Amino acid sequence: MNVRRGTWAAALPSKCVTEVLARDRKCPECRHYFMSSNPSDFVVNYPLLRMARSLAATGLGFHADISINTSNPASVPQPNAGDCPAHGSRMFFRCMRCSVWVCRDCVVVDHPVPPRGLCRILAISDALEEMKKSHKVLVNAKVKACQKAKESLENKVSDLQAAQNQQRDTANRLRSLLVEVNANLKDLKSKKMEILKKISEIDSMVEAARHTGESVEQAATIDDYTAAIEDTNASLASLEKHVAEDTQEIPALLSMPVLSSQTLVGLLDAGTSIFATTEKEGQPRWARVTRQDDRLHLHALRDGLPGAGCFTLPVSGCLGLVSMCVLLV
Ligand SMILES: [Zn+2]
Ligand SMILES: [Zn+2]
Ligand SMILES: [Zn+2]
Repeated sequence: MNVRRGTWAAALPSKCVTEVLARDRKCPECRHYFMSSNPSDFVVNYPLLRMARSLAATGLGFHADISINTSNPASVPQPNAGDCPAHGSRMFFRCMRCSVWVCRDCVVVDHPVPPRGLCRILAISDALEEMKKSHKVLVNAKVKACQKAKESLENKVSDLQAAQNQQRDTANRLRSLLVEVNANLKDLKSKKMEILKKISEIDSMVEAARHTGESVEQAATIDDYTAAIEDTNASLASLEKHVAEDTQEIPALLSMPVLSSQTLVGLLDAGTSIFATTEKEGQPRWARVTRQDDRLHLHALRDGLPGAGCFTLPVSGCLGLVSMCVLLV
């Protein structure tokens, strides 16, 4: 029940207002004519309404249809959200637009439904049903978003795994390169020692030959002279023989160690730039080494030095490996 009034002094129960509007739109007390035909256009007189409710509660009702819960005359209790702090009556509804529990008077005054307003009013049980549903939708959306985030993280993990494998691969290639380079260093060192040894051997032989030459000069008798000549000839023959042997051995010692083409391909695949270097009339020259299919390719030589920090090897060391050479000297 609502107690409504127009701009005049009289106050009427809502039910009476409806009846009056349906009949002749004239106030039964003062015969004032109402311009509006809509009961909700009449302002609720809250002080009077509260008084009427208090009277109803004490059993001294002044109007037959006053009761606390006019919309639920049966004894089945309707779910409610407690008493309205503004109007004192039970809140049996929810405004879905404003997300608040409301009483019947709240609906009329502050939460008008179309066409007067934009509010959407539901009974509490329906409102709960709808809220549960939208909560479920929200939770599902959150779960879906989390799953998506998880998927993208899983993709990141496999990206990182791939990068890790690649780096490990590179490390293995560099390790085998280091092994190869160390072996080459050892080889160079022993070759150098070998050549130094040969040089000192030749030195001592030359010394011996010179010594026998002196003996020939100092010979005082025929016998001394003959013996000295024999010594000299033997010494020279031995020197000659030694030099002949060295001539055969030295080219092998002078050959430079090379890196295997497998290692070079590995370096190129790991993103290392390889340059071959050489000299022409004392001027440095360089050429890029690249991989083309399964072959190493030596590009045209240019004057100067390649950039600092590049991996370089002598052209002589890669000629045997490179399958296609374009030497535009
Ligand atoms: Zn009146
Ligand atoms: Zn209210
Ligand atoms: Zn509202």
